Amino acid sequence: MNTYQDRIFVAGHAGLVGSAIKRVLQGRGCRNIITRSRAQLDLTDQAQVRAFFQTEKVDQVYLAAAKVGGIHANNTYPAQFIYENIMVQANVVHEAWRAGVRRLLFLGSSCIYPRMAEQPIREHYLMSGSLEPTNEPYAMAKIAGIKLCESYNRQYGTDFRSVMPTNLYGPGDNFHLYDSHVIPGLLRRFHEAKLARAREVVIWGTGKPMREFLYVDDMAAASVHVMELERETYCAHTDPMRSHINVGSGEDITIENLARLVGDTVGYQGEIVFDSSKPDGTPRKLLDVSKLKALGWVASTPLDQGLRLAYQAFLRTQYPDD
Ligand code: GDP
Repeated sequence: MNTYQDRIFVAGHAGLVGSAIKRVLQGRGCRNIITRSRAQLDLTDQAQVRAFFQTEKVDQVYLAAAKVGGIHANNTYPAQFIYENIMVQANVVHEAWRAGVRRLLFLGSSCIYPRMAEQPIREHYLMSGSLEPTNEPYAMAKIAGIKLCESYNRQYGTDFRSVMPTNLYGPGDNFHLYDSHVIPGLLRRFHEAKLARAREVVIWGTGKPMREFLYVDDMAAASVHVMELERETYCAHTDPMRSHINVGSGEDITIENLARLVGDTVGYQGEIVFDSSKPDGTPRKLLDVSKLKALGWVASTPLDQGLRLAYQAFLRTQYPDD
C-alpha cells in the first residue's frame, strides 16, 4: 500500500485514540490525512456520511469515532451508547464500501467478551457467554461493528479489519470526575485531593477487579501496524467469522494496586478507601495478545511510565498556560 499518497480518513480524530492515530500517521510522513469535526460531519447522519465519501475519494479509514465512557457513563446513558455507536459504524462501513474505500480498520473494545470469559481472553471466545450488564449496550454495538466488517468482506470482498483494545488511557483522555474511565478519573480525583490536602480518596467498588491497561500511543501504533499488514497476512491469522485482533499490554493489575500507583504518580499522601456500594463491573478482562505478537507487534510503554505521561497531559488541560 502506498500510505504516503493515500487519502486517509481518521474518523474520531479529536478523541483519545483518533488523535493518537493521527500523530502516528503524521510521524510516518502521511500527507493526506482527512479529518472532520463533529460540527462539520455528523457521522450518525447517513446523508452527510454519503456526501462526504462521494466527494472525498478516501483510500483508507480508521474508524475511531465512538461514544465512549467508563462504568458510570455506560450505566447512565445506555441508549446513547447503543444508538450512536450503531449509527456511526453502519454509516461509515456502508458508505466506505459504496465509495470503494480500499481498507478500513474498526476499533472495538475488550468489553465485547463474556463477563466470565476464561483468562487471558482469546479472540474466538466472542459470543460464548453473557456480557457484563454495566456495558452490555455498548458491547452489543461493538460486536455489531465487527460483524459489519466481516459481512461486507464476505459478501462484497472488502478489506475491513477490526482491532479490540483493552482499557486505554493517555493524552486526549476525558478527565471527567464521573463519566470517565478509571485512570483519568483517578488522576483527577487524586490530584484534587492532593491540592486540598484531603485525608482520603474514595475508590469505586471493592478494589478487587483486575484490569489490563494500554497507553494510547501504543494502541495507535498497533492500529497502524494492523492496517498496514498485507491482506494475505491478515487473512492467514484471522478467521472470516472471528476476524478481530486483540490489542493489549498482556499484563493486568487490581484496581486497588492501580489506585496506589496513581496516588504515587500524583504525589498524594493520604488514605485510600473503597466504596463497595458502587459497581465493580467485570471481575477480570485480560486479553490474550499472542495473535498480535505473532504478527510482529508488542506494547512498549510500562504502566508507571504511561501514568506519568498521562498525569502530565492532565496537568496541561488544567494549566494550559504553564
Ligand atoms: P470497565 O473496565 O468497563 O469496568 O471501566 P472503568 O474504567 O470505568 O472501570 C474499571 C474499574 O475501576 C471498575 O471496577 C470500577 O468500579 C473501578 N473504579 C474505581 N474508581 C473508579 C473511578 O473513579 N472511575 C471509574 N470509571 N472506575 C472506577
